[in-house]
Amino acid sequence: MSQQRTAGKSGSDGKPSDPLGPIQPASDSTGGLPAEGAVISEAGRTRGVKFTVAKRPTLEQLEQGVLARDRSMLSRAITLAESRRPQDQDAAQELQVRIASHTGKAIRLGLSGVPGAGKSTLIESIGVWLVNQGHHVAVLVIDPSSARTGGSILGDKTRMPQLAVAQNAYIRPSPTAGTLGGVAWRTRETMMLCEAAGFDVVIVESVGVGQSEGELAELVDTFCLVLAPGGGDELQGIKRGVVELADIMAVNKSDGDLEPAAKRAAADYRHALRMLPPSTPGWKTPVLNISARADIGLDKLWSSVEGHRAVLEQSGQLLERRSEQRLRWFRRLLDEAILRRFKEHPGFQKELAEMTAAVSANKITVPQAVRGLVK
Ligand code: GDP
Repeated sequence: MSQQRTAGKSGSDGKPSDPLGPIQPASDSTGGLPAEGAVISEAGRTRGVKFTVAKRPTLEQLEQGVLARDRSMLSRAITLAESRRPQDQDAAQELQVRIASHTGKAIRLGLSGVPGAGKSTLIESIGVWLVNQGHHVAVLVIDPSSARTGGSILGDKTRMPQLAVAQNAYIRPSPTAGTLGGVAWRTRETMMLCEAAGFDVVIVESVGVGQSEGELAELVDTFCLVLAPGGGDELQGIKRGVVELADIMAVNKSDGDLEPAAKRAAADYRHALRMLPPSTPGWKTPVLNISARADIGLDKLWSSVEGHRAVLEQSGQLLERRSEQRLRWFRRLLDEAILRRFKEHPGFQKELAEMTAAVSANKITVPQAVRGLVK
């Protein structure tokens, strides 16, 4: 757990700390023999299988562990993906290549809503419900707080106590890189690793603050907005652009005293949706009254997810969405690679230091400094 907490953080020397210890090169593989200091993996322990892994896993071990649904290896693979160290990034990308043929089959569901709407209560109840139906559910929590506090794994486990201990569920916070509510920088890679580990439902949760929803909607196939009945003026707080993205709207807390307000809110949303273009051509965004606490409407919510998926598949839009998702990933990695090459260029750091001093002392204008460096 401490490994996860240090992911992406800097060490005291200012360099990114090593979250896993170095990855052993492939040739160092022990060929399945327990290396010195080997530990029994979590899956090996719980299933009583003799499955040993070295403390510092090789790429082979990570690959095999992920494909064998070994949760501790999955966690280590995600930690590797989240590491900022260039050599870890190279290894993490190589791992993505190796697992690629095992990805793509899951239902990718995004859930967003303002704090307090009931997202975690909903994920807990629908997650447990799905697991009981035989699904394998991974939950990625995009967590702006974990970027600051260095991880809130315990927080998420208490937010979803039953799901956290369910055999076929996996909960993982994705720390955002400082951007409030933004999609974490390696959520895509984490999703791929979870799919390769056999999770057939991947739920990505993010706190909706009006900016992050678009990014999340682009990462998943089905985007669900979780709402709560408010003080009458239901539509006020939610931007039109966000409502337009919703493939499903779930008005939570439709129970007890809140039920009439929840019904009114749902009617308002239905009305508002009529004025908006559909999120998915050929699909009418349903507005559902649900109660995460009282387990009301979860079956309807899930059949809407499946219904939306069916429309995506039949119309060919699933392939299109997936292709767009891949292209966005391509552009992001390409940008990162170009930037890294650039910064690794001999002499760059020295010139950067000189330009920084010159800008700081106002000896050169900022555009001149940038132009000088790029040349
Ligand atoms: P999140 O911030 O969106 O994750 O919201 P939480 O799941 O933490 O829920 C916020 C509050 O709403 C908590 O006090 C929950 O107990 C409550 N809550 C969540 N779902 C329901 C529901 O279906 N009905 C009612 N009445 N309260 C709920």
